[in-house]
Amino acid sequence: MEKWPLGVFASIDAGLGVKLDVLKELGVPTIQIHAPSREQRTQANAQESLARLEAMGIRITCVFGGFDGESYADIPTVTRTVGLVPEATRAERTQEMKEIADYAHLLGVDTVALHLGFVPEDHHDPAFQDILAVTREVCDHCAQHGQQVNLETGQETAAGLLQFIQAMERDNLFINFDPANMILYGSGEPLEALKQLGPYVRSVHCKDAKWAANPGQEWGTEMPLGEGDVDMEAYLRTLDEVGYHGPLTVEREIPHEPERQKAEIGHAIRLLNELKTKIG
Ligand code: MG
Repeated sequence: MEKWPLGVFASIDAGLGVKLDVLKELGVPTIQIHAPSREQRTQANAQESLARLEAMGIRITCVFGGFDGESYADIPTVTRTVGLVPEATRAERTQEMKEIADYAHLLGVDTVALHLGFVPEDHHDPAFQDILAVTREVCDHCAQHGQQVNLETGQETAAGLLQFIQAMERDNLFINFDPANMILYGSGEPLEALKQLGPYVRSVHCKDAKWAANPGQEWGTEMPLGEGDVDMEAYLRTLDEVGYHGPLTVEREIPHEPERQKAEIGHAIRLLNELKTKIG
């Protein structure tokens, strides 16, 4: 397989990510998709989406789960609303994540991913054991279809995430590494984190950001690729060093500004192509 095929985070219905009609212009061979809403997750829709993508020569590499009621407005809101961590919605979201994995299977996709939310780093916190249990349920469900589960990085330190993965004791649990999230959440220097997490990294986002004045208290600022603090050339060189040669998926989260989003993703793809040529 080609080293580092380029990709974009996309959506088939009105979720996060660029719309399918934009992809043709961008000319990428792979996409990750945000899972469509429950009503859209039918066999007929899966076949129709696959036919459209096949006609464009595009392969789906990962389906990202997301849930109603999640908000990334600020860090305390993320803690309260995102992923399998909030207790009130934990059971129903665990069930929905399994349904999303089933839909990914209909699409022929062997990787699902999600933000788990802020997992407590204290293993004696009763919530830690409960979150392990539901994440195991999702992993075991996915294993029946030969699927892996990739955790999005950002909300915990590299050390915290490694501890969680080791405590999980499942061999189909891996990482979707997002360097910008480490900066946005203030959870650690991204390239150092990547070196620590390397053996578990099975998919990545190419996204950039600038550190906040008070990292961890307030959001950093998401930036167009190459204009933030990640250092894209060093990022690709570190991916090479840890042996990651899978898709480079550009994520730019400004869906309310579609024209700017399209222009910036186009620029990101040109930058990544230049760096690929340079690094080889
Ligand atoms: Mg991401």
